[in-house]
Amino acid sequence: MQLILLGPPGAGKGTQAKKLVDKLRLPQISTGDLLRAAVRDQTELGMKAKAKMDAGQLVPDDIVIAMVRERLQQDDCRPGFILDGFPRAVSQAEALDKMLEDMGRGLDHVLSIEVPEAELVKRLTGRRSCPDCGAMFHVEFNPPRQEGICDKCGGKLIIRDDDKEETIRQRIAVYREQTEPLKGYYESRGLLRRIAGSGTPRQVEALIDEVVGKA
Ligand code: AMP
Repeated sequence: MQLILLGPPGAGKGTQAKKLVDKLRLPQISTGDLLRAAVRDQTELGMKAKAKMDAGQLVPDDIVIAMVRERLQQDDCRPGFILDGFPRAVSQAEALDKMLEDMGRGLDHVLSIEVPEAELVKRLTGRRSCPDCGAMFHVEFNPPRQEGICDKCGGKLIIRDDDKEETIRQRIAVYREQTEPLKGYYESRGLLRRIAGSGTPRQVEALIDEVVGKA
């Protein structure tokens, strides 16, 4: 099964992708995670991407498209995959169509997780991440047992550079301008499934199960 998770920053794509990984036993391909790993490892690609990421802008297409193409060719993607954060622009969706065609595959569902903007800002400004193991917490909705410390590995929690309020507003604006048009792109292909994303992670998961369970 090939799935795309679409939604503004803070909509819960990453959280829901992880649930789907466990249930469907498919790999989650998150371009945000791949880019952050490249920044952490200080690769050439990471150096090119960092300034854009810190500014809340999209990283150039050639970088992300090459990264996804390489990742989809790995063995674990053979049964299918869950794309989280890619595509983010119509140009990327077109490149993905071409990649899938070359692989002889198609898309099953594009899950669009929909959340009002005021709620997104509240969710994102409270987000705390563990730079060591990638675990995510929220000061209000999912606090760690000990403030500032990761429950899973004891790492010191940080606010990601792109989770600062100014950057958050910029990321949401970029989403509206560049990513939201993808809804029309996939709707016209009969692939778009709108998911109300304001509920608890469990409620959203149930809505997704209704769609994916029918695959
Ligand atoms: P995310 O964790 O998905 O919110 O991604 C964090 C940042 O990585 C974004 O704000 C972009 O700067 C960059 N990024 C992630 N995915 C893409 C993509 N498909 N195209 C361009 N930039 C991306």
